[in-house]
Amino acid sequence: MSDFLTRLKAFEGKTLVPATWGPDAVNTPMIRHWVETMGDTNPIYLDEAAAKATGRPGVVAPAMMLQVWTMKTFAEKMAANAAAESGAGTGEPSVAEQLQAVLDEAGFTSVVATDSDQEIVRELRPGDVVSTTEVVESISDEKKTGLGTGHFVTTLRTYRDADDEVVGTQRWRLLRFKPTEAAASTEAAAPAPERALRPRPALNQDNLFWFEAAKEHRLVIQRCTSCGTLRHPTGPMCGQCQSLDWDTVDASGRGVVYSFVVNHHPKIDAFDYPLVVAVIELEEGTRLIANMTHVQPDEVTIGMPVELDWIDADPELTLPAFRPAAGESI
Ligand code: ZN
Repeated sequence: MSDFLTRLKAFEGKTLVPATWGPDAVNTPMIRHWVETMGDTNPIYLDEAAAKATGRPGVVAPAMMLQVWTMKTFAEKMAANAAAESGAGTGEPSVAEQLQAVLDEAGFTSVVATDSDQEIVRELRPGDVVSTTEVVESISDEKKTGLGTGHFVTTLRTYRDADDEVVGTQRWRLLRFKPTEAAASTEAAAPAPERALRPRPALNQDNLFWFEAAKEHRLVIQRCTSCGTLRHPTGPMCGQCQSLDWDTVDASGRGVVYSFVVNHHPKIDAFDYPLVVAVIELEEGTRLIANMTHVQPDEVTIGMPVELDWIDADPELTLPAFRPAAGESI
């Protein structure tokens, strides 16, 4: 066995999470929130009589809530994040961090969760308290996979009750792998010769006029002819006076960046990245979402004056975009 594999296998059996009690006992309010969220209408979780009719002593928690009972509280999670950010840890890296470091050093830097299985030993009832521990169960020899060469790391969580009896287990298997060269070079690959078209807007009677005007390089704003209020996005009714009567005015094309994001992922073939997606506030007062052109993403700032540009994406689609206003130093 190689030195590396010996180091890796030494993690088998090590504890990742020492026995930790859940913050709250199994309880009906949390069960109610969960079943309502999941849309699970089985009456044995909330209706005592219905549960007893099935031979159970009373209501039970859904089996799939097992992990819920041992999750950290929000406050604990925030405190842990803050400690990690400030570097105010215990100094000694955790077992999970040590394992990750060994894998990273050897180039197994990518990770994908491959499968999980749960075993339920008994149903939990309100009042039960639950603890959890997690250990590294096994680490595989090096395997070749479609994603790349790697090691499968299987961890085992064991859930116990107040009497230290096992109530369930949960296995997680992760593949830690080196991306294959083909996968790694995808980013650098030349763009596909036939470029995908931009996604089509969903056109309807309430917005068709806006996209038709854009084809003519006119940025229009819908106006209520009853009270004069401008509105965007387009719609059939004035939000101020509920009138259904409207016309349009031509926008000046001047505005400012109200907010923006720089989109890196997921990459869609129709776009160039990084992609600036901005909320532009027009000088008429309405806002619209548009891409920005003729600017580097790191040069965009909130409040930056901008002017209208156009993206003639393809014969069927023209969209307004915005560029830094002429004369603005950036
Ligand atoms: Zn109106």
